[in-house]
Amino acid sequence: MELCEALELRGRILIADEGLNGTVSGQREMTETYMKVLNEDPRTEGIQFKVDPASGHAFPKLSIKRRDEVVTLDLGKDDFSPDETTGEYLTPAQWRDLMRDDNTVLVDARNQYEWELGHFEGALLPPVENFRELPGWVRENRNRLEGKKIMTYCTGGIRCEKFSGFLLREGFSDVCQLDGGIVSYGKEAGVEGEGFAGKCYVFDQRIAVEVNHTAGATVVSRCLHCGEASDRYVNCSWSRCNRQHFCCASCERDQFRFCSSVCEDASILSLAALGIGCD
Ligand SMILES: [Zn+2]
Ligand SMILES: [Zn+2]
Repeated sequence: MELCEALELRGRILIADEGLNGTVSGQREMTETYMKVLNEDPRTEGIQFKVDPASGHAFPKLSIKRRDEVVTLDLGKDDFSPDETTGEYLTPAQWRDLMRDDNTVLVDARNQYEWELGHFEGALLPPVENFRELPGWVRENRNRLEGKKIMTYCTGGIRCEKFSGFLLREGFSDVCQLDGGIVSYGKEAGVEGEGFAGKCYVFDQRIAVEVNHTAGATVVSRCLHCGEASDRYVNCSWSRCNRQHFCCASCERDQFRFCSSVCEDASILSLAALGIGCD
């Protein structure tokens, strides 16, 4: 925070134990200093930067948040600690053996943009943009979960400690979770990521990591524009949107990497307002 303020940077930054992710704007010398400092810090060294020239700030203000707030379910006074209540832990081998059982239901505890890139075959995929929306989804979809063995999973197993505990507290009795999450599952010898389709979304510069080493690579995500299978993630060209979306190579050329015509129009308007691109 002090660094960004001293450099008069603005933007959005998320910090988690796994690293740092975000976009900032500022004067060229200031952003160069920012990149140099982060590259010299052992916690963030090797971080990859993408630089886009812009005139003026791309963001109205500076926002820096710790991402461990993703384990918040916004339960207010009903909040609890996973140390007290959490689902049974399954090893990757136990998970693989149980996941195809008729009376189980797999629930992806991640956000939509994560499971779009890859998920366990047959899993329920709640269309949530944020972890804290999961309780609402559960309450609206009780009938899909009732009477079943509920198996929850997430990237590294942290969110599920909370989510599986929430399910127990909601009255579901048979709840388990994938210990160590998808990341551990993909590394487990003898399991080889079996049953996972697509890739795992991760919060660092790799974005996508392979999980299933038993079959050839599968692609389950689709280009936002044409619907063809594609796991190319790009950011919307309009700096204020910057939305990460799937986009095949040919649509990236045709759409100039905008996620929508709204963003394309807005971008042209803001450039025109700055007197760029007008004759
Ligand atoms: Zn396309
Ligand atoms: Zn956009």
